[in-house]
Amino acid sequence: MASDSPASRAPSAPPPRKLPALEPETAFFWTSGADGMMRIQRCVACRTWQHPPLPRCATCGSEQLAPEPVSGKGQVISYTVNYEAWLPGLPVPFVLAAVELAEQTGLHVLANLDGPPAAARIGLPVRVRFEQHEDVWLPFFAAEDGL
Ligand SMILES: [Zn+2]
Repeated sequence: MASDSPASRAPSAPPPRKLPALEPETAFFWTSGADGMMRIQRCVACRTWQHPPLPRCATCGSEQLAPEPVSGKGQVISYTVNYEAWLPGLPVPFVLAAVELAEQTGLHVLANLDGPPAAARIGLPVRVRFEQHEDVWLPFFAAEDGL
């Protein structure tokens, strides 16, 4: 752990992150942030959003599904504070939040929440931002009021 000191990275480089594998069904989600937009799978037939992506619509069974842009706005519905540095140089503690997107009740995305754990709360209005790591644009949520 001590072999990779923070000083060995460029000052502006974001901390290292564990990256998801880009699978055919999920690659759109992890690369969507390249243009600053979050995209969520949506059923073409019944217009229900669902996340994580599935081969069929969980509501109507249709296989006609496509990613569509969302506002990137939502509210924290649950969160945990993580104290484990899963990678060398990863700052702890950090907050992992379940965010309900504004588009649909029950549409949840798990992502890191910016800011100190003390600033996290249920119902906190948040907005997505992205951090590029290799070919992945990781979503993060930040408080709408800039906390
Ligand atoms: Zn459907």
